[in-house]
Amino acid sequence: MTSQIAHGGSTPTSEQIRRAPKVLLHDHLDGGLRPGTVVDLARASGYSQLPDHDPDKLGLWFREAADSGSLERYLETFSHTVGVMQTRDALVRVARECAEDLAEDGVVYAEVRYAPEQHLEGGLTLEEVVEAVNEGFREGERLARAQGRRIRVGALLTAMRHAARALEIAELANRYRDMGVVGFDIAGAEAGHPPTRHLDAFEYLKRENNHFTIHAGEAFGLPSIWQALQWCGADRLGHGVRIIDDIEVAEDGTVRLGRLASYVRDKRVPLEMCPSSNLQTGAASSYAEHPIGLLRRLHFRVTVNTDNRLMSHTSMSREFEHLVETFGCTLDDMQWFSVNAMKSAFIPFDERLAMINDVIKPGYAELKSEWLFQQTASTRSSVAADG
Ligand SMILES: [Zn+2]
Repeated sequence: MTSQIAHGGSTPTSEQIRRAPKVLLHDHLDGGLRPGTVVDLARASGYSQLPDHDPDKLGLWFREAADSGSLERYLETFSHTVGVMQTRDALVRVARECAEDLAEDGVVYAEVRYAPEQHLEGGLTLEEVVEAVNEGFREGERLARAQGRRIRVGALLTAMRHAARALEIAELANRYRDMGVVGFDIAGAEAGHPPTRHLDAFEYLKRENNHFTIHAGEAFGLPSIWQALQWCGADRLGHGVRIIDDIEVAEDGTVRLGRLASYVRDKRVPLEMCPSSNLQTGAASSYAEHPIGLLRRLHFRVTVNTDNRLMSHTSMSREFEHLVETFGCTLDDMQWFSVNAMKSAFIPFDERLAMINDVIKPGYAELKSEWLFQQTASTRSSVAADG
């Protein structure tokens, strides 16, 4: 992706990718359950709609349904995960395991999103949903720490763009902003549901000096990105891959950015890119053709994310492995993506800075210095052999 200067520019191994400190801004709580947990929770709650009760087969079913190219089957996957997340205990467990799984994968900071309005069927209130998820995240952070891993997880509250509760959810996000919730999001089918339908929610959050991201420019093109930024005032774009439609690459390699693409780049608007998920939904046709390669080269503020770990059978490490294989991404590139993401997080500036300077940079420095000791070891063994 960048120069091939030694060490920081060298190709990381899978094991180094896993240990490298990573930052995740776009991950759905209902898209990241362990298959075994889906089975357990279905049994405990009497949920009878699961297509399979064997965790391995169920995991495969989720992936294939998401890969199928059929929107109905893709949406069915979420009806099952959301279907088993209707009690306090279920929400605590799913959130706890989410934090544990991310920490195990080397994620040091994550913003995980969910739609509280989708977890009310068992009689919980919106507040009870938020408190259960917060409790699970705190438990997961504690359990990870006990195993020598450090992670911090913030919640983003999502409103569904086809529903009419956005203002109510925005108010909820604002009420819990110093208690585990760091921002707001809207998600759901883009076509026919422009973000401007929820202007009251965005205007409310702006008046409250609060933060939000909007899913835009995934399935739908530039108008959706333009509305999210210029009408709604989004701080970040969920996906934003279609910004590529405003960039022309000539045969000789010269690149011309349209007004909107220039704005996104020049204003440093963070793009929450999720390559594996985009391949499943058809927003990109292959890793090689995914706009992340070009956008990184053009210095857009690109971040790497998982979206739905269960449906896409992915993790932050897997996403980076694909980038290493496809674009020759190095440890320096990984650090660049991680610092970009941390700069774009919704927690206070001093905390972001401390995370960058005291956690991320030292973590990469440690990884980048490993070659020194490997070389010393091989030199020693050859000296010993000569002697
Ligand atoms: Zn998403």
